[in-house]
Amino acid sequence: MTSYPHLLAPLDLGFTTLKNRVLMGSMHTGLEETKDWNRVAEFYAERARGDVALMVTGGMAPNREGGVFPGAAGLFNDDDIANHQTVTDRVHEAGGKIAMQILHAGRYAYGPECVSASAIKSPISPFPPKELDEAGIEKQISDIVQSAVNAQKAGYDGVEIMGSEGYFLNQFLVTHTNKRTDRWGGSYENRMRLPVEVVRRTREAVGPNFILIYRLSMIDLVPNGSTFEEVLQLAKAVEDAGATIINTGIGWHEARIPTIATSVPRAAFAWVTKKLMGHVGIPVITSNRINTPEVGEQVLAEGCADMVSMARPFLADSQFVKKAKDGQSAHIAPCIACNQACLDHTFSGKISSCLVNPRACYETELVVEPAATVKTIAVVGAGPAGMSTAMTAAQRGHKVTLIDRASEVGGQLNMAKQVPGKEEFWGLVDWYRTMLEHVGVDVQLETEATAGALAKFDEVIIATGVIPRDPEIEGQDQPHVVSYIDVLRGGVDVGKRVAIIGAGGIGFDVAETLVTGDSPTEDLDEWLEEWGVGDPAHEPGGLRAQGPKPEAPIRDVTLLQRKAQKLGKGLGKTTGWIHRASLKMKDVKMIGGVNYERIDAEGLHVSYGEARDNPTLIKADTIVLCAGQLSERSLADALEAKGMKPHVIGGADVAAELDAKRAIDQGTRLAAAL
Ligand code: NAP
Ligand code: SF4
Repeated sequence: MTSYPHLLAPLDLGFTTLKNRVLMGSMHTGLEETKDWNRVAEFYAERARGDVALMVTGGMAPNREGGVFPGAAGLFNDDDIANHQTVTDRVHEAGGKIAMQILHAGRYAYGPECVSASAIKSPISPFPPKELDEAGIEKQISDIVQSAVNAQKAGYDGVEIMGSEGYFLNQFLVTHTNKRTDRWGGSYENRMRLPVEVVRRTREAVGPNFILIYRLSMIDLVPNGSTFEEVLQLAKAVEDAGATIINTGIGWHEARIPTIATSVPRAAFAWVTKKLMGHVGIPVITSNRINTPEVGEQVLAEGCADMVSMARPFLADSQFVKKAKDGQSAHIAPCIACNQACLDHTFSGKISSCLVNPRACYETELVVEPAATVKTIAVVGAGPAGMSTAMTAAQRGHKVTLIDRASEVGGQLNMAKQVPGKEEFWGLVDWYRTMLEHVGVDVQLETEATAGALAKFDEVIIATGVIPRDPEIEGQDQPHVVSYIDVLRGGVDVGKRVAIIGAGGIGFDVAETLVTGDSPTEDLDEWLEEWGVGDPAHEPGGLRAQGPKPEAPIRDVTLLQRKAQKLGKGLGKTTGWIHRASLKMKDVKMIGGVNYERIDAEGLHVSYGEARDNPTLIKADTIVLCAGQLSERSLADALEAKGMKPHVIGGADVAAELDAKRAIDQGTRLAAAL
């Protein structure tokens, strides 16, 4: 008897059956653009072997003007079809099913050729789109239809037509972007003509036995977005036009409300999808922040949808469904929704991967095989670098001992998990603990590693992490000056007025911790209110008329840095704006370009500019030092002095710009090569 009866139930689509209720949602990985089709095929085949019912590829451009960026991949000719056939064949051999997403970006296309309903530039693109005329619209429809026909020729089981997230079809639906007065604009009947026509003509072209998913924006989260009445009208029309499944889209890309970041509560938008249930006869899929089998099961059991879509969780663990089926849910590597190696890479033009699983999208390159010679390996430091090395080395059959002087594994992850909005880190530490035990690592906590004890191992890995940098500010030795470690480990009383020295990732995390009472990530209603998300049945696009309504800050915080640039510039590409917006909502004062002059009982004295005259006082009861870190290399240096040759990784190797992504990647790659 499975613990996930709803999640693992098959879904009969009439002409074909899906083996369970889990869809791997579309992700732009950048793999298709490498043109290494063996690599693309292996990415999807590994996930097919992991028993996901249906996968959707990254968005393929139907034509040049609709590509997300110049040169975006698509199925334009026979060579493309043959290349994609490699992927579909490999997926089918692995027992999987795969649909190709057709993504016309409209005004989000990053290029001067972009087109849309009206010539209105998007706030997130420098390119104003050309307004399409009748012939131009016909061209877009036939290019999308041709793309679906080519997908069918390439052996795909279906297509997903991207109609949400503010892309081309979505741009016709709302008056925000559609000011037309012809038959494609004005009344809702006219505005929805394009998506419905695209679905109708696609179905006509591909015949009845081909999966056609329509991705429908359930809640636009932009001004003048669709009302729920309109969403319903479109859903029914799309069903009548021949869609097999409706998938959920949440929020336009230009929306200023987080929809998938780690601070968004789990399954935060399932209630929106649920509103559609019972109104259409075809299956409905829900998505966003569903990352465990338990959450997926609950969402389905509560009748929010017929299927769940998860995307990033399949980067974190390709075997998600298989492990759930086999009663090994605790072994599923959790997606912590950090975006650090997936979306942040996509938006920097890099291949996607995963912070938790560096093999994602590198399946053909980073291969973890049984070791030819079994070695004894000591890993010192049970933070992300050390844990990933120990786990991977033991998976290969090595005999691994992991040593840390702390009483628990996790290293700095144990601080991250204390930050409101970063609760997912609890699951990540739990997963490492479970896996270390599962693969037989000998974990020795509250243990000091000594050169003598380490000498007996074949390989020694030093992952001792970092120590806080000393900012050397006059007066910093007073009791009201504390380190971020004291704050995040909860060991000190922090006063009402706080100055934070240093505005890197940790300065922001400390600020968030000090202004927030109960974490809204743990309370969906509070989170929706905080960000101003309303019911689209009453508020068009789901934006509350009153706007965001955050809880009052519990402290008066000032965040400081010496650089004269905007604070938070170095934070994640796709998440930095959320951290900045969140602190702004809590009235955190952000000041750049300061010199730290001195600290006294009244607070922190800072000056501006080279002259350093007329210092001003920032009144503070507590001052928190978050001035970056330095490598903790003392053990590595001692071993090297004795002639040993340890491998030094993670923060102990390079402290600058250290994050868990780099630490885990370095540890995993080292272990794969030992
Ligand atoms: P960081 O990002 O390097 O920031 C250090 C801060 O300290 C900067 O604001 C810097 O600004 C300031 N600083 C540097 N030297 C100083 C000095 N001598 N005196 C006073 N201030 C000084 O380091 P971090 O905040 O400790 O974070 C460490 C790493 O953890 C980051 O690289 C990050 O990747 C990771 N992390 C990431 C996140 C995330 O959200 N993704 C969250 C937490 C941590 P000025 O030099 O301008 O003063
Ligand atoms: Fe999830 Fe972060 Fe991995 Fe992306 S990088 S898949 S958000 S854990």
